[in-house]
Amino acid sequence: MMLVDGKWEGPIVDQHMHLDRENRFISAAEEFSRSGGTEIFLVHKPSFSKTLPTDLNGYREVYRDTIKMAEIVRKKTELKVNVVLGPHPVVWDIQANDIGVKASSELHISAVGLALDMIEEGEAICLGEVGRPHYSVPEDRWTEANDLLLEIMRMASSSNSPVQLHVEENGNQTCRDIATLCDRSGLSKRRTVRHFAPSDISYQGTSGLPVTVSMGKGSIEGICSTISDNSSPWGMETDFLDDPRRPGAVLGPKTIPKRTHQLCQALTIKGWDKAEIENCMLNVHERWIESTYF
Ligand SMILES: [Zn+2]
Repeated sequence: MMLVDGKWEGPIVDQHMHLDRENRFISAAEEFSRSGGTEIFLVHKPSFSKTLPTDLNGYREVYRDTIKMAEIVRKKTELKVNVVLGPHPVVWDIQANDIGVKASSELHISAVGLALDMIEEGEAICLGEVGRPHYSVPEDRWTEANDLLLEIMRMASSSNSPVQLHVEENGNQTCRDIATLCDRSGLSKRRTVRHFAPSDISYQGTSGLPVTVSMGKGSIEGICSTISDNSSPWGMETDFLDDPRRPGAVLGPKTIPKRTHQLCQALTIKGWDKAEIENCMLNVHERWIESTYF
């Protein structure tokens, strides 16, 4: 029904995208929409190049700006836009160097609290991206990062909010660790999304957590070789940065529609029939999003 001559004409969602008023902004959203995209998760982007918030009012201001950007995108395109708000773990690490770990952690936790309040009020739908540094840090900093993440996940659990996690890449161990943190914090695994995930969607790779796969080169092959009936929920993302200083550093706005079509073709070659492919596409771009975030 939605697969017409091998081409998917149903919903297509980029679950992790950033936009920047000073770079492409609307034109990037329009490009995604023109390519067949229907929905994005607009994730708050810290302004690393300028000044970072140093108090809660600062955070309120930058979160509000992300919400406003989402409103503009909704007005100017047909896209559904879901807002994701939270303090970035790299900001915590940078500010720990400036103001000390204790002050940075306090600011970070209050910024999480503010984001959760705004989610409760319906201004955003998910906490993120929160997590821990993806690069190696001194051991004491790593311990602090993990204590902080546990506290963040407890807070998300208390307000029953879904979370998009920014974490390091360490093979199967990464999701295994997160699953343990879910157990310790009480945060439902169903609500805990690992963002920027590799394309191994086997249970060993995801530990049963929902993941959003970074859809770069090789991702279709990775998905096709690990996909099975008992894959945990997975989705697609670009982590488009909209950063003029790093053009080409990440995937562009057309990527998810393009990869969606490529995946349909690859699954056809793998021997899947039309109904199976349609079912898979509806899971990825609709049902699993509902069950994870809503
Ligand atoms: Zn991101």
